[in-house]
Amino acid sequence: MKPFHFLLAGVACLILTSATLPLDDPQWGFFGHRRINRLAVFTLDQEMMPFFRANIEWLTDHAVDPDKRRYASKFEAVRHYIDLDHWGESKTFPDVPRTYTDAQIWKAELVIVEKGRDTTFWKVQEITHPAPERRFYPDSRVQMSSSKGKRLELQLASYRDFWFNNVWPQFYEDRIVLSPDSLRAIGFPLPGENPKEIYVREHFSEFGILPYHLESMHKRITQAFVDEDTDKILRLCAEMGHYVGDAHVPLHTTENYNGQMTGQTGIHGFWESRIPELFADDTYDYFVGKARYIENPRDYYWGIVLKSHSLVDSVLRTEQRLRDTYPIDQQMCFDERSGRTIKTQCAEFAAAWDKEMQGMVEERFRAAILSIGSVWYTCWVDAGQPDLNRLSPDPIIYAKSDTLDKAVQGGEIKGRVHD
Ligand SMILES: [Zn+2]
Repeated sequence: MKPFHFLLAGVACLILTSATLPLDDPQWGFFGHRRINRLAVFTLDQEMMPFFRANIEWLTDHAVDPDKRRYASKFEAVRHYIDLDHWGESKTFPDVPRTYTDAQIWKAELVIVEKGRDTTFWKVQEITHPAPERRFYPDSRVQMSSSKGKRLELQLASYRDFWFNNVWPQFYEDRIVLSPDSLRAIGFPLPGENPKEIYVREHFSEFGILPYHLESMHKRITQAFVDEDTDKILRLCAEMGHYVGDAHVPLHTTENYNGQMTGQTGIHGFWESRIPELFADDTYDYFVGKARYIENPRDYYWGIVLKSHSLVDSVLRTEQRLRDTYPIDQQMCFDERSGRTIKTQCAEFAAAWDKEMQGMVEERFRAAILSIGSVWYTCWVDAGQPDLNRLSPDPIIYAKSDTLDKAVQGGEIKGRVHD
């Protein structure tokens, strides 16, 4: 280790040990998210560091708010993952739209209920672009087909407008109901007599919306800096740290997120909680360098999830190989946690897996820290570099998580149980 390198790692360790975290939640789980947010502060430069340093405890504690919110809102869980492999097998998934609106359009179903109960289902067959980099030009088209064998081609730009004006305003309602006239206006073939009901079924979001949510959060943080809204800056930056952390976890990008499809149930917590808990303090190198400016946030967030996804096979294969060869009675151990005895992977078994993965967890951990700092920095730059020394948080923000904590106590996660 270089002396400077060593010094910074030492500083990081001091800061860490001064706030020993409770390990009562075996879930990057709570441990990893807090630590990553905390260390991201040290990637910032002198113009941002004092404000973030002054609020480091808050940013650390609230790194896990998005997980808590899964108990309170059914719309939260899908923001933490994307099941890329549900949409095919690829390295880059070029067919998966890079904006959330297009993704919804891609997999939605229009249900037209005629009077007399005859029902027609319209689905998108394909969204075509003249070239991959020209997804926003007017010559992109939507090819649709109906359950009655009809076909229809629409201009993507006008279908998007239709979606913005008619679907988005109702997106969080239980039912998205459309007026016949709104469809006729974009050239949709409807019978002369109005149908009994037209509604939308959205089939994309349930498989995860993480990269879209990252881009949306990015815009909101930038706006919070523009508005110099201290509470919002802190809250959104803390939460963004969580989602960026999740995006670095390979198992947050696959349908087989807990190894449940390959007989490896429990691998999620093993990778993102057990391994960092055991090794993060003593062996991880926390010197990740300075936050960097992100030129193209959309490509950047997609780059993170695609990289994470490229590691899924290796995560699963290594664990399987080790499980097949490691003495069976030395794989699981009993451990004391806050007075409770829990069954978890033995430290030696975990060390063997970590070694087999050649530092993957540490690499993703480090990449997440640098990424979070870079996101905060980029939003601040894009907001015109407001003087953060002028800001001081309203003390009320320190009480704001109460409702989330109440939801956690005695609540159930709405949606996928996924950290
Ligand atoms: Zn999460």
